[in-house]
Amino acid sequence: MMGLRETFEVLDGERYALAGKARELLYWNDNSQYCGVCGSPMQFHTNISKRCINCGKEVWPALATAIIVAITRGEEILLVQSKNFRGNYMGLVAGFVETGETLEEAVRRETLEETGITIKNIQYAGSQAWPYPSGLMIGYTAEYESGDLLIQRSELNKGGWYNLRKLPAIPGKVSLARQLIDQVKADIIGSDD
Ligand SMILES: [Zn+2]
Repeated sequence: MMGLRETFEVLDGERYALAGKARELLYWNDNSQYCGVCGSPMQFHTNISKRCINCGKEVWPALATAIIVAITRGEEILLVQSKNFRGNYMGLVAGFVETGETLEEAVRRETLEETGITIKNIQYAGSQAWPYPSGLMIGYTAEYESGDLLIQRSELNKGGWYNLRKLPAIPGKVSLARQLIDQVKADIIGSDD
């Protein structure tokens, strides 16, 4: 037996995705036992929705949408270490999208909050289901525009600009963070090293 995160390194992509979806649905089932409107028990209506037996309120699994962004400045990339990371490696600026916000606004806001800089040329670069417990991670690349680094100590242990040719420990191959880092590295300095 092992946790879902550990299966990242063990299962193939298809099985990992299935396990993740199952984990998300189990989490949703555990957390939607009663109606948020009237407090009565909820009953399955379809295999991905439930309905209140009293007032008829219907609910579906809710995704927590988060953005993650690879920010570059010439041959450098901005890497940070979140207090949430489970290990001593450096990752990317990331955070949850707030109500009423576009994805691009969330990218700009999280970057400014976590690092004090402004960015430009924000481009969509991919997405990944993130079943911890029910997330959707949406990836972007962007370029530095202005400002000095001011790391948000309440959220991050550290952060800084790193040369793409000399990267510190970064997230594993299966993560969207790693895919974004690999992508900007290939785009900016090629895949020669
Ligand atoms: Zn109800």
